[in-house]
Amino acid sequence: MSEYIDEPTGRCDTDAVHCGEQRWLGSLTTPIALTSTFVFKDMNEVQAFGQGQADHYEYGRYGNPTREAAERKLAVLENADRCILFDSGMSAVSATLMALCSQGQHLVITDDAYKQTLNIVTKILPRFGIEATVVPMGDYQAMAAAIRENTVMLFSESPTNPYLNIADVECFVGLARKYKVLSVIDSTFATPYNQRPLEQGVDIVIHSTTKYLGGHNDILGGAVFGKAGLLDPVYQWRRATGGVIDPMSCYLLIRGLKTFSLRVDRLNKTAMQVAEFLEKQPKVRKVYYPGLPSHRHHEIARRQMRGFGAVVTFEINGDLADTLNFINGLKLCLLAPSLGGPETLVTHPALMSYYRETREERYRLGIVDELVRLSVGLEDPEDILADLQRGLDRLA
Ligand code: PLP
Repeated sequence: MSEYIDEPTGRCDTDAVHCGEQRWLGSLTTPIALTSTFVFKDMNEVQAFGQGQADHYEYGRYGNPTREAAERKLAVLENADRCILFDSGMSAVSATLMALCSQGQHLVITDDAYKQTLNIVTKILPRFGIEATVVPMGDYQAMAAAIRENTVMLFSESPTNPYLNIADVECFVGLARKYKVLSVIDSTFATPYNQRPLEQGVDIVIHSTTKYLGGHNDILGGAVFGKAGLLDPVYQWRRATGGVIDPMSCYLLIRGLKTFSLRVDRLNKTAMQVAEFLEKQPKVRKVYYPGLPSHRHHEIARRQMRGFGAVVTFEINGDLADTLNFINGLKLCLLAPSLGGPETLVTHPALMSYYRETREERYRLGIVDELVRLSVGLEDPEDILADLQRGLDRLA
């Protein structure tokens, strides 16, 4: 079995290139162990493995060297003791919830979490006797008031989707510690380049690696980070139930991570330019970007983030027809859900993520018809701005 060459330097660029790599047979890049199972030489080896006296991979659901290389690289980048990879962000979220909450227990979650996370928490977990209270994002009094005797977890995203609200991690951790419950942050929109919640005392961090960590819009994946002992039930959950990411996706993740800090640094800068451009446009009513002083959580973001990420949300100054007209006028920005890749993607949350809800329900959730979400990409910023201008020019 190969050795890791992965002494972390604490510097993101170097660690993203070198940490976790496995160099079997002199291979520079980590090979893809595309196998579902592993061969033992004989029963002596099987027995030595069973008794913990020999290192060996056994079966793909339990372990895979390419997966472990990706987990090691990610753990270093998030400054985590351990990383457990899943086949999607939602597998990572659901495994964390199911492995760490039991029947009769309760959790508190903020109201603008990702739609499917709220779906699991409010619709699926109650079927297993796990209750949740949903509190307004940013209201720490409401969060404290919601904590009960049987509460085991506080769950929040930061930044959130689509309004880019920022959790005040100090307050969040303070409450979790005071009431001796677990604190969990879905940090997907920030990436470990822009924030490392574990260093601020959060117990568990989750990422959809589908987004910035994979970074190329070509894989699905999810990761859970934290102390090894604390995450053991999450590992046991994956071992038993599956949800394992495949070795090919792990390879693409490792490959994508090598340019991680370059990409995110550039994305932060372009997104800021885009947000500032949009804020000056008369045909844009409001821009939501935590890097702008006008954002409700700008000061918190400045305090705890290195950069503000690459999602910019805004409202067209008009109605639904104007908003669709604007989107239809874009040529460079591609109309697709998701975020975090090289291509600038545009979504219309009301008719893309929330098309199953009635307009009344959407408005109750704050998803107005004029809302547009941009996942800023790696194109030349001038081309992105020109494309947005092209769309805006269509509006009377
Ligand atoms: N967490 C956040 C904040 C997300 O935005 C998403 C998806 O958009 C997920 C989790 C789910 O990730 P995946 O699509 O990889 O399952």
